[in-house]
Amino acid sequence: MIGAAAREALDRCLAERVEFDVPLSRHTSLRIGGPADALATPSDRAELARLLAVCAEHALPVTVLGGGFNVLVREGGIRGVVVRLRKLRRIEQTAPDQVAIEAGASHATITRFCTSHGLAGLEFAAGIPGTLGGWLAMNAGIGVREMKDVVREIDLLDRKGQATTTLPRAALDFRYRELAGLEPGSVIVAARLEVTPGERSKVEAEVDRLLEQRHRTQPIDQPSCGSVFRNPPGDHAGRLIEAVGLKGSRAGAAEISTVHANFIVNHGDATATDVLCLIERARDLVAARTGIRLETEVKILGVAASPKCERG
Ligand SMILES: Cc1cc2nc3c(=O)[nH]c(=O)nc-3n(C[C@H](O)[C@H](O)[C@H](O)COP(=O)(O)OP(=O)(O)OC[C@H]3O[C@@H](n4cnc5c(N)ncnc54)[C@H](O)[C@@H]3O)c2cc1C
Repeated sequence: MIGAAAREALDRCLAERVEFDVPLSRHTSLRIGGPADALATPSDRAELARLLAVCAEHALPVTVLGGGFNVLVREGGIRGVVVRLRKLRRIEQTAPDQVAIEAGASHATITRFCTSHGLAGLEFAAGIPGTLGGWLAMNAGIGVREMKDVVREIDLLDRKGQATTTLPRAALDFRYRELAGLEPGSVIVAARLEVTPGERSKVEAEVDRLLEQRHRTQPIDQPSCGSVFRNPPGDHAGRLIEAVGLKGSRAGAAEISTVHANFIVNHGDATATDVLCLIERARDLVAARTGIRLETEVKILGVAASPKCERG
């Protein structure tokens, strides 16, 4: 719950761009999630900075949500302010081999910009749903290509909204599906990425090829949060879960996808508890049969509000 003084301060700062008690199921790709105390969508960087200052002043926790494509929000929702950057979405080509992008720009917008300008290098990310901020925070990638391979520098706003720091690639600790070492609560607001001037038709053809491959191998027409588990060294989480016979396993309306076992899909009214049940089931069975403990890739956010999963 947000107190009256903090609520007033948020209203003064953002007017209609802040809403209260917003179900996050509307803002996550799994279509699951309890309410955010407040959901804020600042219109530009200056407003974001003012918002963070208000949150710091009133001791409100801040959670940044990108496109919500790799998160599982529990039924109890998220306390404090959830910030979305979708109005920070400017993209420009700042050198023949460089694009400057604001963190709220979506995968679709970035891909359209690069294809229409004939800029190669980011095709691998075309089918990774999300925003630039989420791509960077997760070091998103496919195969051997990840965001770390294309980043030149990142602009970070500190958690009090007071200072923006530009960090060059060499100062960034990218790891497997993670950008480590950032000050907790700091927000990625923009980045410069490396591209290669090329031919529009070739960029388009590569994007189409990768999207087509994804359609064949992932349940992209069903609500999911992408890969649930990180791949353990030298193996694939999907292969391990399939090998222990859990493809198609269900808890409520959540199911371990029959298309790709490292995806959990929501058949309609699945809850976070259902998904957490499947996560525990897969982790327990894979550990029991192989000795490998799977770690989650999906970010589990918020607080629980219902009884714990009954192990089945
Ligand atoms: C069908 C499907 C396929 C997918 N395929 C892939 C794939 O091939 N490869 C892959 O790597 N991922 C994949 N994913 C997962 C997801 O697309 C990526 O993790 C993506 O980077 C998430 O971006 P997002 O903006 O939605 O971030 P969110 O899911 O909203 O957030 C993820 C994390 O990033 C943090 N974050 C977001 N924005 C910022 C910011 N501006 N500043 C600081 N922190 C921030 C959030 O706090 C959260 O901790 C897939 C997901 C789906 C649903």
